[in-house]
Amino acid sequence: TPSAIASTGYRLRLPGPTEVPERVRQAMARVMVNHRGPECRTAIGEAEEMIRPILGTTNRILFFASSGTGVMEAALVNVAGPGHRILVVEHGQFGERFTTIAKAMNITVDTVAIEWGQAIDVAAVEARLREHAYRAVVVVHNESSTGIVADLAALGALVRDRPTLLIADSVSGLGGIAMRQDEWGVDIVVSASQKALMCPPGLALASVSAKAWRVIGQDEQRSAFYWDFRRALKSAEQNETAFTAPVSLIYGLREALTMMHEEGFANVLARHKKLSAALRAGGAALGLADFCRDEPRSNTVVVFKVPDGLEGGAIVRQLYQDHRTVIAGARNRLSGRVIRFGTMGALSAGTILTDLLHLEDALTKFGLPIEPGAGLKAATEYLAATA
Ligand code: PLP
Repeated sequence: TPSAIASTGYRLRLPGPTEVPERVRQAMARVMVNHRGPECRTAIGEAEEMIRPILGTTNRILFFASSGTGVMEAALVNVAGPGHRILVVEHGQFGERFTTIAKAMNITVDTVAIEWGQAIDVAAVEARLREHAYRAVVVVHNESSTGIVADLAALGALVRDRPTLLIADSVSGLGGIAMRQDEWGVDIVVSASQKALMCPPGLALASVSAKAWRVIGQDEQRSAFYWDFRRALKSAEQNETAFTAPVSLIYGLREALTMMHEEGFANVLARHKKLSAALRAGGAALGLADFCRDEPRSNTVVVFKVPDGLEGGAIVRQLYQDHRTVIAGARNRLSGRVIRFGTMGALSAGTILTDLLHLEDALTKFGLPIEPGAGLKAATEYLAATA
């Protein structure tokens, strides 16, 4: 299990960016090299080789210097433009962002709006697909705002025999929950470095299926330049990026992926599952209900409802003030009503047990009647039962 707790006592427990393991930090401290020289090409090639099994694909991987939102936009701009129609499955804040991006690009957008905290409605998507030949169905794999995971296998089955593409944002999923891109029929997966991939922010990627390449190839009047996947592919074939590669981040990603493979990727997934469930069990014992009302729940982010009479931001501030434990609230319609923990990347049992200790302290200070040690007890019992 990777250890990442910095000696500063600062505990970065957000659903991204996440703690960066010392090995990754050291790898990024290497001397700068030619971004088109052999050292960087080797690093890109090795990172690509190691990330493919995590994506479940044989596709070429396109790397970009960008945050996650950049590649969300890239996925859309490469397959659609004015006059095209897409269907966005909105089950949280990042689904809504896809709609906003598409509207800014004058793409016609229909939405399937899911109540936040509930599972996506595959039948409703199917009904819409019968009405229109959409360019793409667009969905967030792991909704960081709610903690719900979308059933990509079911959506992939819907588009498989249609001209429609399936685009998935796995910014907060990839590396922490299963992604089987080729098997499930996901045409474009986009992700970013700063979450389960254990790197600093700034490196993003796209993995594009043969079906999506056919759509991309058809359209000559693409309005993309930096984001043009065709140009990115030509460079990727040389283990380069079209424009200057974020060299240090690529070194970091290669190291993080090496760590994930040393642990065994199945073990990485199992660790995320177990620790997120243990945190949920501990939170429940402290009186914190899970925001999700449905399955499948995320193994990379845990979203708790804030107890009546409390305000989420106050809990976030208390944890920072007293413990330098940094968690997230919400910057959307749930503002004040939920608190969110990342359970992804370099995470051990000690991490979540410390979270529960600090959480108990904060909630007790706010006057909640908590039996001392209740959260730790529930979590350790859960961990012992699943050992
Ligand atoms: N998609 C999801 C699911 C996310 O959680 C985030 C960031 O939290 C993003 C997209 C946006 O990524 P970025 O902030 O790197 O642009």
